[in-house]
Amino acid sequence: MTQMNYTDSTRVAIIANGKPQSRRVADRIFKALRDDPDFYLTKRNPDIVISIGGDGMLLSAFHAYEKELERVRFVGVHTGHLGFYTDYRDFEVEELLRNLREDRGEKVSYPILKVSLTLSDGRIVTSRALNEATIKRLEKTMVADVLVNHVLLDRFRGDGLAVSTPTGSTAYNKSLGGAVLHPTIEALQLTEIASLNNRVYRTLGSPIIVPKKDLIEIVPKRVGAYVLTVDNKTYHHRNVQRVTYEIDQAKISFVATPRHTSFWQRVKDAFVGEEHEI
Ligand code: NAP
Ligand code: MN
Repeated sequence: MTQMNYTDSTRVAIIANGKPQSRRVADRIFKALRDDPDFYLTKRNPDIVISIGGDGMLLSAFHAYEKELERVRFVGVHTGHLGFYTDYRDFEVEELLRNLREDRGEKVSYPILKVSLTLSDGRIVTSRALNEATIKRLEKTMVADVLVNHVLLDRFRGDGLAVSTPTGSTAYNKSLGGAVLHPTIEALQLTEIASLNNRVYRTLGSPIIVPKKDLIEIVPKRVGAYVLTVDNKTYHHRNVQRVTYEIDQAKISFVATPRHTSFWQRVKDAFVGEEHEI
């Protein structure tokens, strides 16, 4: 009999939100994989990250491992209503365990967003977003130039602007009137947040979708306090010179399980529901 050592095992991190139901699911998965020599449970350098909770929890899991995207594959379990980043419901844990044991390393990958913030002292802060990044001004109207590939497209006035990934298109982007984009389309979507449109001020007014390699640049025209969000994180800055947005070189990968449902099925389940006769 050959003795399995840790390097032969799939390294698995389990990360759950605080809901009792999520903790129960995490406990069940933990106990099942702990005694299985094919798996090694660890939070460090995992091959697979199992996120238990909702889409919000998967956003947190993504940020916990955002520097290890080359290696990591995610899988989501939803304890609540169905989500976009989650393939399993809480009552499908046995099926998940079976699928993990049969897993041969297949993955499904989607584009993510790279955000670079340049401060007026020249410092550059970069981050990655799975859903979207926004820039807003709270106290006064935000005035900002919008450039795409260095073409000055628009002078924006309003609350702010959002740049969304394809998988983020069903999140904040959708509330802002953006289109739902299939995640195999490698593109970013720029939407306006409450733009000022009157006889004096004009903006393009519609969302734009830019292809891979296009650079979106937002240059605030007034000094003041800006709020920058990256998924579920919020940052405050007083000295924003410009912010650029482009598709990151890295992608997020999910375990290609038999349960990995069609994007359109998710859209239907989340927003439309069952068809009914009138
Ligand atoms: P939250 O405020 O607790 O939840 C926002 C909601 O968005 C949750 O119901 C979450 O689902 C859902 N969601 C997250 N990603 C999604 C996706 N890709 N497609 C469809 N729905 C999605 O905050 P959170 O859970 O930390 O999530 C942060 C996200 O909230 C941001 O990235 C932004 O997209 C979104 N947001 C939306 C608005 C808006 O629509 N007006 C405003 C601010 C932020 P779960 O319940 O499954 O977690
Ligand atoms: Mn949430």
